Amino acid sequence: MAVSENLLDAIRKAVGPGGWIDDEVGMEPYLVEPRGLWRGTCAMIARPDSTEAVAAVVRLCAEAGVAIVPQGGNTGLVGGGVPDGGIVLSTARLNRIRDVDAANHTMAVEAGCILAEVQDAALEAGALFPLSLGAEGSCQIGGNFATNAGGVAVLRYGNARDLVLGLEVVLPDGRIWNGLRGLRKDNTGYDLKQLFIGSEGTLGIITAIVLKLFPPPRVSETALAAMADVERVLTLFTRVRDECGDALSAFEMISRIALEFTVRHIPDVADPLDSAHAYYALIELTSPRSGDNLRESLESVLAAALEDGTIEDAVIAKSQSQCESLWRIREFIPEAQKSEGGSVKHDISVPVSKVPEFIHRASQGAVAMLPGTRVVSFGHVGDGNIHFNLSQPVDADADAFLARWDDFNQIVFDITFEMGGSFSAEHGIGQLKRKHLVHYKSEVEVDLMRRLKMALDPDDILNPGKLV
Ligand code: FAD
Ligand code: ZN
Repeated sequence: MAVSENLLDAIRKAVGPGGWIDDEVGMEPYLVEPRGLWRGTCAMIARPDSTEAVAAVVRLCAEAGVAIVPQGGNTGLVGGGVPDGGIVLSTARLNRIRDVDAANHTMAVEAGCILAEVQDAALEAGALFPLSLGAEGSCQIGGNFATNAGGVAVLRYGNARDLVLGLEVVLPDGRIWNGLRGLRKDNTGYDLKQLFIGSEGTLGIITAIVLKLFPPPRVSETALAAMADVERVLTLFTRVRDECGDALSAFEMISRIALEFTVRHIPDVADPLDSAHAYYALIELTSPRSGDNLRESLESVLAAALEDGTIEDAVIAKSQSQCESLWRIREFIPEAQKSEGGSVKHDISVPVSKVPEFIHRASQGAVAMLPGTRVVSFGHVGDGNIHFNLSQPVDADADAFLARWDDFNQIVFDITFEMGGSFSAEHGIGQLKRKHLVHYKSEVEVDLMRRLKMALDPDDILNPGKLV
């Protein structure tokens, strides 16, 4: 549908001066996504600075039958925020912290607040907002809830879905739903907020959120343990969880090749251990009780694991800077992988108990299909979420490798499906995984999703062509 000058003028009036971008150079960053896999087009970037202005823009577009793609920090990895005509609605100027209620352990924030700023605002109020991911310096809290973001603290605090008490949403017809309640108990019918979380901008535009806050950690300990195989990673995970209880806040797996890549390509990353090991676990314990001796707990569980052969070696960070160095290994794996040529990525989950079996089967499948393929697996093993990435064979042609993307997907996703897992654990569907949604979900489930979309957005105004 073409976008008329009349509509664009009406939007300009609705958002006021500074509320839109319509020149080529200014629009560019909104049309591409982080990995450069897609490039979109649109007539304008609307940047409203209030919920009422968002609603006005949506009403105008709905009346004209023009599509809107909501966009936050544009860090999504599945092409969900890339427009195909219509307009982009950026939430960047909806960036106020509306309210902090310390006694209720909640904070109401607008969708365009950067995640890192939300974390800082919580800390200033003496609390923790635990959502944490690699893109936290640029992703927005509205985008985090629209994608039900995960990250490294899910093990202890859950996904975005678990961190919310209320939402404010502009519906596809321009009405505003004010569900900004700060209630921990509210059994008054369907839980509508959960419908919008993870809906990737297809059912409504999230404009504000009531977040749950937690006591801030006052002590923390970080260790890197090394193991001979992935089975032992799971053994260690179970052991640490059983012995340290909810002090365990992160348990991330790193395979040897992933560590080698970061050492090779990322400045200030070194192998902290003397010899090579097949797998590593990055373990973090935290506690709000300043008297807790987490060091002792960590030392005792690692010493026992060393004694019975579960682990081969381990290092416990002795300073904040050593702790940061250990985290750098984990956080820079995707960046380091770029320097090794083409990579095909999978963000899957299986029941935690099946992680080792998944890694064996999927690695065998991938290498059998293309000998020399390098399996770079790492991730949130404590949640059963593995980033099962494949790097091209050394000296192979990157484009030829990437041309096999769908073949690799099929092998990895079929195994995931057989094991009762999910082909998209964290990053959502967007445009990248639409065909997989239809393939791997049951007809009933896809039908229910389509009915929900039809019920809320019968004219397909919000983010058409994404998710369902
Ligand atoms: P965008 O990319 O702008 O949008 C994502 C989707 O949400 C789009 O479909 C868009 O239309 C929709 N949307 C955005 N804002 C709204 C809104 N207010 N209302 C309705 N719909 C909206 N993800 C994880 O889950 N865990 C990770 O550990 C993780 N690590 C990452 C590391 C890096 C380096 C990068 C680049 C990305 C990572 N991601 C991760 C993916 C991404 O950061 C998350 O999906 C993030 O939540 C997206 O937020 P955003 O503001 O950038 O949203
Ligand atoms: Zn992740």
